[in-house]
Amino acid sequence: MSVTGLCQICTNAEAEDSCRRCGKLVCDRHYERSVEQCVECTVEGGTDPTRGGEDLPDGVDTYRF
Ligand SMILES: [Zn+2]
Ligand SMILES: [Zn+2]
Repeated sequence: MSVTGLCQICTNAEAEDSCRRCGKLVCDRHYERSVEQCVECTVEGGTDPTRGGEDLPDGVDTYRF
């Protein structure tokens, strides 16, 4: 897929993909290729939409990179 524009997360690098969840254009560093989503959607818990993990605890506000 070819996308023209800057990454909407870091606005610093050229976007190479778009998140299939929120549609953001993101660079390679901010794109999680295995789930075809941007890193923002990935940390929100959209890692695997096919599993429907609605029963996961939602109070996790500390994550580390
Ligand atoms: Zn980026
Ligand atoms: Zn996204």
